[in-house]
Amino acid sequence: MNPAENLTYDVFVNDPPPQDGLLPNGEPKLFSPMASTLIYGSRDAVLTDPGMTADQARVLGDWVAAKGRNLTDIFITHGHGDHWFAAGLLAERFGARIVASAGTITQMHASAATRPFLWDKLYTGIPPSPVTAVTVPGNRFTLEGHDLAIVEVGPTDSADSTVLHIPDLELVVAGDVIYNGVHMYLAQAAVVGGFGPWRNAIDMVQALKPRHIVAGHQNHRLSDDAERTIAETRQYLDDADELLRTENTAVGFFNAKVDRYPDHLGRTVLWAGTSVLYGVRQHPRADLAQIILAAWL
Ligand SMILES: [Zn+2]
Repeated sequence: MNPAENLTYDVFVNDPPPQDGLLPNGEPKLFSPMASTLIYGSRDAVLTDPGMTADQARVLGDWVAAKGRNLTDIFITHGHGDHWFAAGLLAERFGARIVASAGTITQMHASAATRPFLWDKLYTGIPPSPVTAVTVPGNRFTLEGHDLAIVEVGPTDSADSTVLHIPDLELVVAGDVIYNGVHMYLAQAAVVGGFGPWRNAIDMVQALKPRHIVAGHQNHRLSDDAERTIAETRQYLDDADELLRTENTAVGFFNAKVDRYPDHLGRTVLWAGTSVLYGVRQHPRADLAQIILAAWL
């Protein structure tokens, strides 16, 4: 019997919320699209990373409802608010449990604490976001008897990143460990001293031998081919290391990345991450939290 019989998945990519301000090249700021995955059997379903605003939650919730399955769990890959601030609304609508690793739950509390200084200054319509996520024994849970494994991969674009591995689908729901056609948020390198830990995380995803990867930030026109998205995510980090050596200013780095990746979405996130990396370089004694806030606002 095919292990994936009666098990499948579908992906919903949201629209970024409205935002004020301009990028160095004059274009309006806009956050990156974020992907939610619905993994479902004949009866039940599990949803990942349900987004940030009440508007996003309503549209996503209608899409989930149309699948006609019983939503048992909502899984959060990592603590960044764009992936989970709306989780409570979806959990309430469907009567679902919110699941995450212990590390993600720690980071969720950190994001909730920075909401008034960062997220609420950028976006309206973020609903109340109490942290109600729970861990599961051994970082494993099931969907109609199929294993769902939470794999902790360490720092990537966030501390304490995880991915969700569904062996029967040869699928990894990768959160922000793997990107797909979207500029990557590079600021965490300032915290952990470079991209080495992120490269290790990519190796851990590859070791799971997935055929399909759902990147948390993606261009919905692109495929979910694991080999391509892994290779492109590595290449993006290699390019970043090269440009950090050759570009002396944040604007220079930003322009060079846009030149190399003209079709990538998410230039606002590129600019924020770039501003952090060059802010730390120019003000090595300054408070990193302040540099991050200034980079986004
Ligand atoms: Zn993200």
